[in-house]
Amino acid sequence: MSPDPPVFAGIDTTVPHSARRYNYWLGGKDHFAVDRESGEQMAAVFPTARVWAVQNRAYLRRVVTYLAREAGIRQFLDVGTGLPTADNTHEVAQRIAPESRVVYVDNDPLVMTHARALLTSTRQGLTSYLEADLRNPAVILEQARETLDFSQPVALMLIAVLHFVPDAKADSYAVVRTLVEALPAGSYLAISHGSADYLPAPTAATLEAMARAGGEFQLRSASELARYFDGMSLVDPGIAVISEWRPLDDDRPDPADVACLGAVARVG
Ligand code: SAH
Repeated sequence: MSPDPPVFAGIDTTVPHSARRYNYWLGGKDHFAVDRESGEQMAAVFPTARVWAVQNRAYLRRVVTYLAREAGIRQFLDVGTGLPTADNTHEVAQRIAPESRVVYVDNDPLVMTHARALLTSTRQGLTSYLEADLRNPAVILEQARETLDFSQPVALMLIAVLHFVPDAKADSYAVVRTLVEALPAGSYLAISHGSADYLPAPTAATLEAMARAGGEFQLRSASELARYFDGMSLVDPGIAVISEWRPLDDDRPDPADVACLGAVARVG
């Protein structure tokens, strides 16, 4: 096993972090013992956590490709960025449209220390990074305006992050509404979100109990997800298991092994 990453000021290696646990599942190098333990605990209940992580990354790639190529989007606000890995949002977007601008937002200081890897833009494009919490949408909007032009369409990307805003901690619907209300017509909202909809009942019950006990995450159903898109037009196929959203491969995992829903919608 490779050594742990260096510890910078502000990085707590005694508490598991979602970005680092996800990095562990993806086979990355940026995780500490607590994150590996937490990842293994969750994998004991949901053994296909790695399948989920890989599918989520593939979904992100297909969503950005759709937005850049088919919807003509040139500005992205990507909240809950995660640690840099293959095909980050700006790389996918700028491969299609080099002038694309991307603002990354995450609340994990470790992500900030890796931000340089996210700031390698094309000459025509622009990428910026800000450390902020999704639960403070006004702060995000104020800072994002330095890079993005809010008179032009923006894609708001909330990929695998809303499940870290449980109802007990914040009103995630109000958060999304505040962000979406700042976007002009022709903008898009893209979400992926952990869900028990396709899980066998015993697995769902154990995961839900874990979520309640830890207070760190919350699974949401398709109808709960639909509320984030109130007043918007869902792009085909609507809310789907992420591996079934505009898939490119015939060889796809069982939805129960993915347990994550996604959708993309047009604003206005
Ligand atoms: N969007 C990426 C990474 C998902 S991992 C992808 O889908 O591949 C979830 C990320 O959300 C982590 O980097 C974690 O640090 C971040 N996150 C969790 N809660 C957050 C919050 N309240 N505000 C901002 N970022 C948050």
